[in-house]
Amino acid sequence: MSTLLMVHSQMPLSPIPEKMDTAHYLQGKFEASEHPDWFAEVPAAYADRSGHYLRKEALAAFVEMAKAAKKDGVTLKIISATRSFYRQKSIWEAKWTGKRKVEGKFLPKSHPEAKARALFILRYSSMPGTSRHHWGTDFDINHLNDSYFLKEPGKSEYAWLREHAAGYGFCQPYSAKGSLRPSGYEEEKWHWSYMPLAIPLTKMYAHLLSDQDIQGFAGAESALSIGMVAAYVEGVDPKCYE
Ligand SMILES: [Zn+2]
Repeated sequence: MSTLLMVHSQMPLSPIPEKMDTAHYLQGKFEASEHPDWFAEVPAAYADRSGHYLRKEALAAFVEMAKAAKKDGVTLKIISATRSFYRQKSIWEAKWTGKRKVEGKFLPKSHPEAKARALFILRYSSMPGTSRHHWGTDFDINHLNDSYFLKEPGKSEYAWLREHAAGYGFCQPYSAKGSLRPSGYEEEKWHWSYMPLAIPLTKMYAHLLSDQDIQGFAGAESALSIGMVAAYVEGVDPKCYE
């Protein structure tokens, strides 16, 4: 039996945690640490700090993958995992208001018009309520910068993931943009997603929620004109969505 099948047969695999409101879950309106039946903290050996949570099924598969990588001399550490709506709101609004610069720019000045400002932030950061990080199925590995993965050790780490991650159920949703992935975030070599949960959750999101449901933060009005659900929530690599 493959590692992946063993992991699955030992664990419940329901996309939405029991007793949680589906829309609230999909939009990250909960704290992972308060749902110990469904989320677990990433052990210190596999993370850059304490306090990262993942869905239990995703964490079990990640640990198997990280152990196998280690045998090949590749270290995989999680540097960001589940993020709530409220956490994403503070990240988004810091960029929106200029409290935090984005690619060296103070956005209220460089991008005064709402839609253009939102699109600039959306190169790498998601709107609160639309992030795959809300679900506990997705995480960032080792470094949040493309240049890290173009030289060693990042280059070998990424090559290892490209070759092996699918065998553990993982996929890179934000692959290079092009004809297969025309819309959405820029490429993120560090962001990986646990497909057995993330595929049904992406489909549920697209069926149950619309651009009008993306609310509650500065700049939310631009969700409608951008078409957030179609362009960003569904703007993933087709391999990660079928
Ligand atoms: Zn990420």
